[in-house]
Amino acid sequence: MHWADVEAEKIDSKKPLIATGEAPSGPIHLGHIREVLTGEAISRASDGDLILIVDSFDPLRRSYPFLDDSYVDQIGKPLSEIPCICGEHDNYAEHFMEPFLESLDELGVDLKVKYAHEMYAKGDYEDATRRMIENRDKVAKIIEEETGRELDDDWFPYNPICSRCGEIGNTAVTGFDDPYVIYDCGCGYAGKADIRKAEGKLAWRGDWPARWWILGIDCEPFGKDHFASGGSWDTGKRIIKEILGSEPPHHVVYEWIQLKGEGPMSSSTGVAIKTEDMLKMVCPEVLRFLIMNSKPKTHIDFDPGLGILDLVDEYDHTEDIYFEGGDEDRSRTYELSQVEKVPEKKPQRIPYRHLVNLVQIYEDRDAIWDVALNTGQIQEDRKEDHERFEERADKVKFWLENHAPDMVKFSLKKELPPVDLDEDEKTFLESYLKSLEGCGWKGEDLHRLVHENADETGINKGKAFRSFYKILLGKDKGPRLGRFLSQLEEEFVKQRISEAVSS
Ligand SMILES: [Zn+2]
Repeated sequence: MHWADVEAEKIDSKKPLIATGEAPSGPIHLGHIREVLTGEAISRASDGDLILIVDSFDPLRRSYPFLDDSYVDQIGKPLSEIPCICGEHDNYAEHFMEPFLESLDELGVDLKVKYAHEMYAKGDYEDATRRMIENRDKVAKIIEEETGRELDDDWFPYNPICSRCGEIGNTAVTGFDDPYVIYDCGCGYAGKADIRKAEGKLAWRGDWPARWWILGIDCEPFGKDHFASGGSWDTGKRIIKEILGSEPPHHVVYEWIQLKGEGPMSSSTGVAIKTEDMLKMVCPEVLRFLIMNSKPKTHIDFDPGLGILDLVDEYDHTEDIYFEGGDEDRSRTYELSQVEKVPEKKPQRIPYRHLVNLVQIYEDRDAIWDVALNTGQIQEDRKEDHERFEERADKVKFWLENHAPDMVKFSLKKELPPVDLDEDEKTFLESYLKSLEGCGWKGEDLHRLVHENADETGINKGKAFRSFYKILLGKDKGPRLGRFLSQLEEEFVKQRISEAVSS
């Protein structure tokens, strides 16, 4: 059974509510997609509802490299209260959420978004906050027991926002006069915060179980950091039981996505690919596949270079399995990877590695499609397949420009580049040209003929291959030759060879 179905079966609810979270303190990278897509797969499998809770009321913890100096003054203030970086969004949190939510939409993720600052403003947290405050000692004891840390004597489960300096967590609470939390701020101000309004928030250890309780969350996937011994899962599940009198949600722990050779993705270290950039280099169903194809507890080693080609090949292979009625788990992975429903007919496609060459050979997309039709790679000119091809070609182009390794990149020279061929090369190319007569212009034949003619004329094999790259690309290296030649027009290649030989 697919992991999403396994998890769905463990949830004790007919119409479960599945929660995911996001802290928009910076650009939201690919690693975060795993949380949302894990939750989404389970909601699809369980016919549940998905929500995304945005930690927009968390403070800005430090000045990140992508922020200008003016943001130093904003440290400590809630993200929802900080101006947006570009000036076009309501606040700092929105600035980073907008592109992420657009990406989720492109990925076909159907969810409701809840902003923490709005939940506090509406008073959603009032009862939970009151219970935490009234049970301050019990909450503190749970945290101390689970974490093994001793809390300060004046620890308080609720952090007021200073109404003068706007900072959260810089206050010392001196009393509770329901519904007001009385505080002294480090800035010298003394005031009170109303727990029915957005004037403060629960500390994270209490905030998390509070939202399970307020919203009635049945299931939540989260990263392994929360699951560490003494982590917020250990305290949260006790707080919801012992303080709020309810049960914790079914939990699913997921592993990080690592950027190959660079470690886990993280916005603060800069080892990351933004979700929106990822969607510029692969189709949404392929990005979904990346997540659906691995159990949450398996870490994903993501390689934006050649790894993209393997990923798409694996997706295409899984598509074949689905349409051949093969392996059940893999077919389910394919289903869950779809943005909408599964295509009615098996998509016809140009093999991805071919497409990588074709996009570099032809500027005109229609020419690529026509070649594929003429050579029988695509049998039927179907609109939906043509559209998929266009989309893939766009992604390939972005990938080539931004992430592809040099070994797959080339530029076909429209005119014969300046070359200095020696007699061996000329003799070989001449012989090759003659042998093309009656050849079916198939990759494997074109490749075989290189070997045959090299043997016949006695030229070194490497030199024989290089001679083609020299006259076509003006370089010593290039894509796999047989396939590459087969993608070029026969007349063009013949013309180029005879020009080179007589130069
Ligand atoms: Zn203050």
